[in-house]
Amino acid sequence: MRIGLLVGALLFVTSAAHAQPRWYRGDTHVHTRESDGNRPPEEVARWYRDHGYDFLVVTDHEKITDPAPLNAALGADGRFLVVAGQEVTQQVADAARPNGPRQAHVGSIGPRGVVLPLGERGIAQGTTVAATYARNLAAVKAAGGLPQINHPNFRWSVRPDDMAALPDSTLFEVWNAQPRINNLGGDAGDGRVSLGTEALWDTLLARGVLLYGVGSDDAHNFAALDDAETTRPGGAWVMVRADTLSADALVAALRGGRFYATTGPLLADVAATAQEYRVTVAPPTNPRDDRRYRVRFVGRGGRTLAERPAAPGREVRYAARGDEGYVRAVVTDSDGRRAWAQPVWVGRPPRR
Ligand SMILES: [Zn+2]
Ligand SMILES: [Zn+2]
Repeated sequence: MRIGLLVGALLFVTSAAHAQPRWYRGDTHVHTRESDGNRPPEEVARWYRDHGYDFLVVTDHEKITDPAPLNAALGADGRFLVVAGQEVTQQVADAARPNGPRQAHVGSIGPRGVVLPLGERGIAQGTTVAATYARNLAAVKAAGGLPQINHPNFRWSVRPDDMAALPDSTLFEVWNAQPRINNLGGDAGDGRVSLGTEALWDTLLARGVLLYGVGSDDAHNFAALDDAETTRPGGAWVMVRADTLSADALVAALRGGRFYATTGPLLADVAATAQEYRVTVAPPTNPRDDRRYRVRFVGRGGRTLAERPAAPGREVRYAARGDEGYVRAVVTDSDGRRAWAQPVWVGRPPRR
């Protein structure tokens, strides 16, 4: 018995000193009845906990919904955590647009204080989307939060130039799971063309702007889950590699790009350097899951560098030649769901 205790103590010391990083599933953009969601915070947090998420950032509009009572009721050490957050619901007046202001919303992950958008009723006048991003990102950081650019194509609002001065390592939503968010971009047929979020990402990377792609729900509706026109939960999320489930560890991993965005595919491993990009799709947990996967390695301007089958559990590698500019990886499964791993510069980053 004494030996057993000693071994147990040694194992504990070993695991505490060398905690292995693992993937934590979470969502960084969700609303509750504290702003315009339709369910109280505890019900929203419970939905995520009961659907296999490890953490949730509650991002009500212009309000930090206190995570303390939610963690007291639902939190579990190492298994579920609610992190403070907010959405800065910035709009920008644009006389050239008859259908209303541009939408330049910014999320804030883990802040201590609220940031209010510029302008009366959150509509900034006489400025640009780029200028409000600069102001709001600085304000979010000053309030202790990690900023996230939300849904660039909501109301067809954001163009590449609006994001060209963002600091490196800024998070942006490559996939927001809500309807009418227009992730894939579109051509109105009258000369108005908007890039999809992936093309926007590649356009900015080619200009030397290092962005990290996030998937998020932006869910507001937890009541009418059968109505696809409403903003439901569960469509897109992030898998964050951290050694503990704490707000500090999650924010540090997000800031460092140690995560991927997904609408379904799960990855066992991602390892990217300037020399080599390696991706391993996770083996299925359900024996009836016979989905197949492809990984596409993407370089400058969205060019396909290589596209290969990715059998679950088997590592797929791309060896860089050195002239790609950057490499990122997208995994698509046979149901059309996708996972986006983060870009890494190859060679000298393009000059801005
Ligand atoms: Zn928004
Ligand atoms: Zn939102």
